[in-house]
Parts: sequence; C-alpha cells; structure tokens
Amino acid sequence: MKFIPEKARILEPGQAEGCWVVAAGRSIAVRNADGTLPHREDFEWLERPEVVLASRAGEKCFYAVEIPGDIKLPEHLRFEDLRQCIHTLGKDCGAAVARAIEIGHWNKEHRFCGVCGKPTEICDASGARVCPSCHTEYFPRLSPAIIVRVTHGDKILLAHNRGFNSARYSCIAGFVESGETFEDCVHRETAEEVNILVKNIRYFGSQSWPFPHTLIAGFTAEYAGGELCPDGGEIDDAGWFTADSLPEIPPCGSISRELIDDFITKTSLKFARA
Ligand SMILES: [Zn+2]
Repeated sequence: MKFIPEKARILEPGQAEGCWVVAAGRSIAVRNADGTLPHREDFEWLERPEVVLASRAGEKCFYAVEIPGDIKLPEHLRFEDLRQCIHTLGKDCGAAVARAIEIGHWNKEHRFCGVCGKPTEICDASGARVCPSCHTEYFPRLSPAIIVRVTHGDKILLAHNRGFNSARYSCIAGFVESGETFEDCVHRETAEEVNILVKNIRYFGSQSWPFPHTLIAGFTAEYAGGELCPDGGEIDDAGWFTADSLPEIPPCGSISRELIDDFITKTSLKFARA
C-alpha cells in the first residue's frame, strides 16, 4: 500500500472511484458503521462537489473534497478529528489522506491569481493552479520546520508551549525562516525559546504534518552552554527531565513522541549496562 502523491487533477464526481477525503476544517467525514473513509456513493446527495485527485496508496486513489463546516451529514456518516484519523490509518494511507487534505486547502486558497486577480485553473501537466492571464503558477505550499531533542547527560530538555491546551511538554520546535538551513534553525530556536546553545546536531527523521502544510525535520543535539530560561512568550515553562521523571508528553504518532521514546530507550539501555 505504498503512498504516491498524484498531480492534482479535477475529476467528474462519477469518475472518482476510491476514498473521498471530505474535509471541513480540522475534521473529515468517515462512515459511522466502521470508521472507514467514504466513497463516491456516500456523497450522491452532495450538490456539484469539486473533486480533486490527490494521492494513491497502492491501487487505491484518494480525492480531496472540501465542504462547509456547518453542513449536516447524513446519518451513516460522521466527522472525525483529522489527526486521530491519520494516526489510525497507518503510515501510507495516513500520508495519502494528509496529502488530500493539503490539496483540498491549496485548491480552495488559490482560486484567484495573487498577481492579477484573475481566476486560476488546475494545469493537468504540472498539477499547479495556473493563471491563464499572467501565467503565474501556484503549487501546493509546504513549510519546513524543525524539532530538536536536546539532551544534557541523562536529562532531556522539554518545554511547555503557551498554545498547548494541556499540561503537555515537548521538544523545541519552530519554522525555518527563508535563508536558514535546518541547522541554523535548530540553533536559533533553542537560543530564542529557552536561551541555550547546542552542539552535535544530528538528523533523526522527518514527518509530514498537514496542520497545515508543514514538513518537520527532527534532530537530536547536545547541550553546549547557557542558562535554561523560557522566553516567556511562546514557551512559558521548560526543564531538564530524566527518563523516570517525565511530565505529560505528546501522544504516539508524532515525531516529538518518537524523539522522546528514543531518549527513554537509549537512557534505559545505558542504565541497564551500567
Ligand atoms: Zn495572474
């Protein structure tokens, strides 16, 4: 079931055989009976939907369809939280759905040319939305970001973001600015958010994070100096934690959790060997 991004293409609803990723805000429609993704026949009641081919997982196609958040679904369908749904679907189908969500947003947000204001059209050859008047192309947007696990001996640095709706602590993260490398961004974010210097930055892995259009590159790094001090803005608390004294951490399915789990594994191995 390998995930394959498809060039965006508008299809007649009747031709769109496969999974319909019908999004309203941060939710998508699933079948009530078993939580699976709906198909064309589940949306025959929807008037003139715009259906955009977005991705495949194996032989299965995934289509982006945007609907208003206040629309009433028929009884056999319900809305489900997008993050939860992507996590439940597993790697490849989750990625196919994530791309469909992105394609849906992009398609909705680039209907008009930002240069001359004329309506744009999807170009089947490139998959971009193109202005027929001034030929400006609009490709789906992708914003690179970093997340870094900083360790100091047997301790991990975790921070609480003011924007979290919970007591959850996580690794330091932030968006890459134009002109920066990932490594520059790791240095800047750790200095800005918690006032520390880091060294030995190593790539860990990456994750597509369509909330929205983010590609997160994960890194590990070691503490190199500075006194830990949350910036008081975005970060309202931060601390050094051992593996057996962790605060509430992010749920499984996120790269932040993978970084923290990897720290726990490595620390306990070290402890077992000692
Ligand atoms: Zn234009």
